[in-house]
Amino acid sequence: MSFRARLTLFFVLIVIVPMLSVAIVLFRLIADNETGKADASVAARQRSAINLYNDARGEADKAVRGVGSDEALALALRAGNAGPARVRAQALLKRDGVRRIVITGGKVAVDVGSQAAIAPAVRDLVGQGSESFGRLEVSVTLASEYADLVKRITGADVVVTEGARVLATTLPQVKAAIQLPPPGEPQDIDVSGDQFRAVTFTATGFKQREVRIALLSDDARRQDAISRSRLLAAGILLGFLVLAMTFAVAVSRSLQAQIGSFLAAARRIASGDFSTEVTTSGRDEFAELGEEFNKMSRQLEERLEDLRQERARLQTSLRRIGQSFASNLDSDALLEIVVRTAVDGLGAGGGRATARDGSVDGLEELVRAGTIDAGPMEALTQAEAAAMSAGDGSEATAGEAYALAHPLSGEAPGEVVGIVSVVREGQPFSDRDRELLAYLAGTASVSIQNVGLHETVQRQAVTDELTGLYNHRRFQEAMVAESDRARRFDQPMSLVMLDIDNFKKVNDNYGHQQGDQVLREVARVLRESSREIDSPARYGGEELAVVLPQTDLEGAFQLAERVRQEVEAMQVPMVDGAGGAISVTASLGVASLPESAPEPGELIAAADAALYQAKNAGKNQTVRAAGKV
Ligand code: GH3
Ligand code: MG
Ligand code: MG
Repeated sequence: MSFRARLTLFFVLIVIVPMLSVAIVLFRLIADNETGKADASVAARQRSAINLYNDARGEADKAVRGVGSDEALALALRAGNAGPARVRAQALLKRDGVRRIVITGGKVAVDVGSQAAIAPAVRDLVGQGSESFGRLEVSVTLASEYADLVKRITGADVVVTEGARVLATTLPQVKAAIQLPPPGEPQDIDVSGDQFRAVTFTATGFKQREVRIALLSDDARRQDAISRSRLLAAGILLGFLVLAMTFAVAVSRSLQAQIGSFLAAARRIASGDFSTEVTTSGRDEFAELGEEFNKMSRQLEERLEDLRQERARLQTSLRRIGQSFASNLDSDALLEIVVRTAVDGLGAGGGRATARDGSVDGLEELVRAGTIDAGPMEALTQAEAAAMSAGDGSEATAGEAYALAHPLSGEAPGEVVGIVSVVREGQPFSDRDRELLAYLAGTASVSIQNVGLHETVQRQAVTDELTGLYNHRRFQEAMVAESDRARRFDQPMSLVMLDIDNFKKVNDNYGHQQGDQVLREVARVLRESSREIDSPARYGGEELAVVLPQTDLEGAFQLAERVRQEVEAMQVPMVDGAGGAISVTASLGVASLPESAPEPGELIAAADAALYQAKNAGKNQTVRAAGKV
């Protein structure tokens, strides 16, 4: 059921139903009241009519004495002569203005005059010897006269009946028999379509017969009065109803407007729009509800904003995780990710990662994120120094700046290789913040250690352990790469091969350890004589080689000669600690592309052949390939 339907139902229940009940009761009361008034007036008329009837009887009383004492009539009655008695009675009618004379119960019965006479006076006719001559009834009033008189005085119409006979009526429409209400209370009757309020009373007529007299008041006035009063009452009730309805509609509209605005606001919020607020007025519950609603909406917006930021941070972190996977062999990139994540995650203004720079407590900044002003920087350096000496997470404060630092541990237990630190203003760090930085620093430490490990393994994979030169595999790779490059850029490239002379004897005379030391020293000479782009390598046994990009045969020869002379001049101390030193010589073969060999695959063989030639020619010398000396 809608809100409007509920309000309508409520209105019907508390206003319309009671009002209808009041209207029904009121209409009844009005009718009863008007009827009461009408009946009171009917009763007054009835009293008048009764009085008038009694008056008529009083008049008849005088007449009955006159008739009763008439000698002629008495004579006729005494004689039992009916004819003369009637003739005398007729005469008396005319003489005394009598309307009807009736004598019953005697020897002679007389009934002269109008049958429509009423209100008779009665007298017993008694002779001198107490002899009875019957009952004398005399009337001086006709029913019609009485009716006219009553109508004139009371204003009500009159119907006079005796049994089924209508003696008189003032109503022209009453012709034959009429059904009068029984004597008693006033009643409504219908006479040929006209409504009357009628009351009937009885009187005694001639020969003890009952005469009924009905007073009929026109009912139109009563009905008019009822209608007028009802109209007035209905008007007043209607006025109230209109007033109540107007008030109810106004209240309903205002309620609906309020609820409508809440509904619209709720829909806006549901669609993600928090910009407009519910307008509130006054200090009622709706205003309070509206304010609470607005508060809720603002909080929801803030929460959503927090969530949005949280999500953005999460996305950034995910991106960083992706980056850290990609850069997990690049320790600087890794540190940058760690610092950025720490700054974002802790809501810090800035942060950095530092590493030991070789001095005792000196730290060198490796990466930085955010901005760090002078004040925060002071706090940051204090926290870093504290973390460095404590080997654990430390904090420092400078003014409003709070700094948090955590060491990056090395492979050895307790070793500190660097520090990750962040600084923020206005808000000290919580346990959660400390945990997060410790976690990030721990992860960074493990990653950096892994990077170091990886670098070692990688180095070992291409390095000869004894001499520190490239191993044979790396030498072959360098050969392929450099010969490709040389061909692509049309540049020369050379290869020098070196073999220590009579090395077997060194081993034999001084032992293998001494031989190893000699090998290391010769390798050092070769490495130190090489450029950055050259690739000095141990070819195998005590044979060394160096790949020389962008170097022609002559250049290579000069390098080889320099190496040969340095080896010859070298004094290798005895490894047994007994003092003294030994010296060795070496033979070298030099070949280059494209002078010595047209194809890279033939270059090693060419250099090897040149070396062989040098050995054959007496050792401790350099030979260029293709026989060019
Ligand atoms: P030549 O002048 O003809 O080169 O005579 P040489 O004695 O040096 O002969 P060769 O080049 O054939 O000698 C190879 C010897 O080098 C054999 C082996 O004992 C020794 N040698 C090879 N590798 C090593 C090493 O790693 N350490 C030591 N101490 N000796 C090695
Ligand atoms: Mg050899
Ligand atoms: Mg040798």
